[in-house]
Amino acid sequence: MYEGAVQDLIDELGRLPGVGPKSAQRIAFHLLAADAADVGRLVASLQRVQAEVRFCSICFNVAEADQCRICRDPRRTLDVVCVVEEPKDVVAIERTREFRGRYHVLGGAISPIEGIGPDDLKVKELMSRLMDGSVTELIIATDPNLEGEATAAYLARLVSPMGLAVSRLASGLPVGGDLEYADEVTLGRAFEGRRRI
Ligand SMILES: [Zn+2]
Repeated sequence: MYEGAVQDLIDELGRLPGVGPKSAQRIAFHLLAADAADVGRLVASLQRVQAEVRFCSICFNVAEADQCRICRDPRRTLDVVCVVEEPKDVVAIERTREFRGRYHVLGGAISPIEGIGPDDLKVKELMSRLMDGSVTELIIATDPNLEGEATAAYLARLVSPMGLAVSRLASGLPVGGDLEYADEVTLGRAFEGRRRI
Protein backbone atom coordinates (compact mmCIF):
# COMPACT_ATOMS: atom_id res chain seq x y z
CA MET A 1 0.00 0.00 0.00
CA TYR A 2 2.71 2.45 1.09
CA GLU A 3 6.41 2.53 0.48
CA GLY A 4 9.05 0.73 2.51
CA ALA A 5 9.39 2.06 6.04
CA VAL A 6 5.81 3.33 6.39
CA GLN A 7 4.33 0.03 5.27
CA ASP A 8 6.71 -1.91 7.54
CA LEU A 9 5.53 0.18 10.49
CA ILE A 10 1.87 -0.37 9.59
CA ASP A 11 2.51 -4.12 9.30
CA GLU A 12 4.26 -4.28 12.67
CA LEU A 13 1.54 -2.25 14.41
CA GLY A 14 -1.10 -4.44 12.77
CA ARG A 15 0.38 -7.49 14.49
CA LEU A 16 -0.41 -6.06 17.92
CA PRO A 17 -3.50 -7.43 19.67
CA GLY A 18 -6.61 -5.34 19.12
CA VAL A 19 -5.02 -3.20 16.40
CA GLY A 20 -6.80 -3.62 13.07
CA PRO A 21 -5.45 -2.38 9.70
CA LYS A 22 -7.22 0.98 10.01
CA SER A 23 -5.89 1.68 13.51
CA ALA A 24 -2.41 0.56 12.43
CA GLN A 25 -2.49 3.10 9.64
CA ARG A 26 -3.77 5.84 11.94
CA ILE A 27 -1.05 5.17 14.56
CA ALA A 28 1.64 5.01 11.88
CA PHE A 29 0.70 8.43 10.50
CA HIS A 30 0.41 9.84 14.00
CA LEU A 31 3.98 8.68 14.66
CA LEU A 32 5.18 10.11 11.35
CA ALA A 33 3.91 13.53 12.39
CA ALA A 34 5.10 13.26 16.00
CA ASP A 35 8.09 15.01 17.59
CA ALA A 36 11.36 13.10 17.40
CA ALA A 37 11.54 13.30 21.22
CA ASP A 38 8.13 11.65 21.64
CA VAL A 39 9.04 8.85 19.27
CA GLY A 40 12.38 8.47 21.05
CA ARG A 41 10.61 7.98 24.39
CA LEU A 42 8.32 5.35 22.88
CA VAL A 43 11.27 3.46 21.38
CA ALA A 44 13.18 3.69 24.67
CA SER A 45 10.26 2.33 26.70
CA LEU A 46 9.81 -0.58 24.28
CA GLN A 47 13.49 -1.42 24.58
CA ARG A 48 13.41 -1.05 28.35
CA VAL A 49 10.47 -3.38 28.72
CA GLN A 50 12.29 -5.97 26.61
CA ALA A 51 15.51 -5.64 28.55
CA GLU A 52 14.29 -5.21 32.12
CA VAL A 53 10.88 -6.73 32.65
CA ARG A 54 10.63 -10.39 33.38
CA PHE A 55 8.26 -12.67 35.20
CA CYS A 56 8.27 -13.21 38.96
CA SER A 57 9.90 -16.52 39.87
CA ILE A 58 7.14 -17.22 42.42
CA CYS A 59 3.86 -15.95 40.96
CA PHE A 60 4.71 -15.16 37.30
CA ASN A 61 3.43 -11.60 37.53
CA VAL A 62 5.54 -9.05 35.65
CA ALA A 63 8.56 -8.07 37.71
CA GLU A 64 11.70 -5.98 37.46
CA ALA A 65 13.59 -8.24 39.84
CA ASP A 66 13.61 -11.98 40.50
CA GLN A 67 10.41 -11.51 42.50
CA CYS A 68 7.57 -9.07 41.84
CA ARG A 69 6.66 -6.16 44.08
CA ILE A 70 3.80 -8.12 45.70
CA CYS A 71 5.79 -11.26 46.48
CA ARG A 72 8.53 -9.10 48.02
CA ASP A 73 6.05 -7.22 50.24
CA PRO A 74 6.26 -8.70 53.77
CA ARG A 75 2.85 -7.22 54.67
CA ARG A 76 1.09 -9.52 52.21
CA THR A 77 -0.24 -12.69 53.80
CA LEU A 78 1.19 -16.00 52.65
CA ASP A 79 -1.82 -18.19 53.34
CA VAL A 80 -4.18 -16.92 50.61
CA VAL A 81 -3.34 -17.17 46.92
CA CYS A 82 -5.50 -15.68 44.20
CA VAL A 83 -5.18 -17.38 40.82
CA VAL A 84 -5.60 -15.15 37.76
CA GLU A 85 -5.04 -15.53 34.04
CA GLU A 86 -2.87 -12.52 33.20
CA PRO A 87 -0.78 -9.84 34.93
CA LYS A 88 -3.45 -7.28 33.96
CA ASP A 89 -5.88 -9.14 36.24
CA VAL A 90 -3.49 -8.59 39.16
CA VAL A 91 -3.70 -4.87 38.44
CA ALA A 92 -7.53 -5.02 38.30
CA ILE A 93 -7.75 -6.82 41.66
CA GLU A 94 -5.14 -4.58 43.30
CA ARG A 95 -7.32 -1.59 42.36
CA THR A 96 -10.16 -2.95 44.52
CA ARG A 97 -7.91 -2.94 47.65
CA GLU A 98 -9.89 -5.97 48.86
CA PHE A 99 -7.09 -8.49 48.70
CA ARG A 100 -4.00 -8.71 50.92
CA GLY A 101 -2.74 -12.14 49.89
CA ARG A 102 -0.52 -13.19 47.01
CA TYR A 103 -1.22 -14.09 43.39
CA HIS A 104 -0.50 -16.83 40.92
CA VAL A 105 -0.58 -15.82 37.25
CA LEU A 106 -1.40 -18.76 34.98
CA GLY A 107 -0.49 -17.05 31.73
CA GLY A 108 -3.85 -17.75 30.11
CA ALA A 109 -6.77 -20.15 30.42
CA ILE A 110 -7.52 -23.66 29.25
CA SER A 111 -8.95 -23.50 25.74
CA PRO A 112 -9.34 -26.69 23.70
CA ILE A 113 -10.26 -24.60 20.64
CA GLU A 114 -6.99 -22.71 20.76
CA GLY A 115 -5.10 -25.84 21.77
CA ILE A 116 -4.17 -24.50 25.22
CA GLY A 117 -4.03 -27.17 27.91
CA PRO A 118 -2.87 -27.17 31.56
CA ASP A 119 0.71 -27.88 30.47
CA ASP A 120 0.80 -24.57 28.60
CA LEU A 121 -0.09 -22.70 31.79
CA LYS A 122 1.70 -22.28 35.14
CA VAL A 123 -0.35 -25.08 36.71
CA LYS A 124 2.57 -27.32 37.72
CA GLU A 125 4.18 -24.29 39.34
CA LEU A 126 0.98 -23.60 41.27
CA MET A 127 0.84 -27.17 42.53
CA SER A 128 4.42 -27.05 43.78
CA ARG A 129 3.67 -23.74 45.53
CA LEU A 130 0.80 -25.42 47.37
CA MET A 131 2.83 -28.48 48.37
CA ASP A 132 4.36 -27.17 51.60
CA GLY A 133 0.93 -26.50 53.14
CA SER A 134 1.47 -22.83 54.00
CA VAL A 135 -1.34 -21.80 51.64
CA THR A 136 -4.74 -22.53 53.18
CA GLU A 137 -7.06 -20.71 50.79
CA LEU A 138 -7.12 -20.55 47.03
CA ILE A 139 -9.29 -17.95 45.31
CA ILE A 140 -9.80 -18.71 41.64
CA ALA A 141 -10.32 -15.44 39.80
CA THR A 142 -10.13 -16.56 36.19
CA ASP A 143 -12.27 -14.63 33.70
CA PRO A 144 -16.07 -15.13 33.83
CA ASN A 145 -16.19 -16.76 30.38
CA LEU A 146 -16.13 -20.31 29.01
CA GLU A 147 -12.35 -20.76 29.20
CA GLY A 148 -12.12 -19.13 32.62
CA GLU A 149 -14.86 -21.35 34.03
CA ALA A 150 -13.28 -24.48 32.54
CA THR A 151 -9.94 -23.51 34.08
CA ALA A 152 -11.52 -22.86 37.47
CA ALA A 153 -13.30 -26.24 37.41
CA TYR A 154 -10.08 -27.99 36.40
CA LEU A 155 -8.04 -26.36 39.16
CA ALA A 156 -10.70 -26.99 41.80
CA ARG A 157 -10.67 -30.69 40.92
CA LEU A 158 -6.89 -30.82 40.85
CA VAL A 159 -6.38 -29.28 44.30
CA SER A 160 -9.34 -30.94 46.03
CA PRO A 161 -7.19 -33.72 47.61
CA MET A 162 -5.04 -31.04 49.27
CA GLY A 163 -7.86 -29.98 51.58
CA LEU A 164 -7.57 -26.24 51.17
CA ALA A 165 -10.48 -23.83 50.99
CA VAL A 166 -11.14 -23.14 47.31
CA SER A 167 -13.40 -20.31 46.26
CA ARG A 168 -14.52 -18.68 43.07
CA LEU A 169 -15.42 -15.00 42.71
CA ALA A 170 -19.13 -14.34 43.23
CA SER A 171 -21.42 -13.78 40.30
CA GLY A 172 -22.27 -10.25 39.33
CA LEU A 173 -19.25 -9.97 37.10
CA PRO A 174 -20.16 -9.42 33.45
CA VAL A 175 -20.52 -12.94 32.05
CA GLY A 176 -18.42 -13.72 29.00
CA GLY A 177 -16.17 -10.79 29.74
CA ASP A 178 -12.72 -10.07 31.00
CA LEU A 179 -11.96 -9.51 34.65
CA GLU A 180 -10.14 -6.30 33.78
CA TYR A 181 -13.33 -4.72 32.39
CA ALA A 182 -15.22 -5.05 35.67
CA ASP A 183 -15.29 -1.82 37.64
CA GLU A 184 -13.62 -1.70 41.04
CA VAL A 185 -16.84 -1.82 43.06
CA THR A 186 -18.23 -4.84 41.19
CA LEU A 187 -14.93 -6.69 41.37
CA GLY A 188 -14.55 -5.81 45.04
CA ARG A 189 -18.01 -7.16 45.78
CA ALA A 190 -17.34 -10.32 43.80
CA PHE A 191 -14.26 -10.78 45.95
CA GLU A 192 -16.05 -10.33 49.23
CA GLY A 193 -18.90 -12.60 48.13
CA ARG A 194 -16.65 -15.39 46.86
CA ARG A 195 -18.19 -18.80 47.27
CA ARG A 196 -16.62 -22.11 48.16
CA ILE A 197 -16.41 -24.65 45.37
ZN1 LIG B 1 5.34 -12.47 42.44
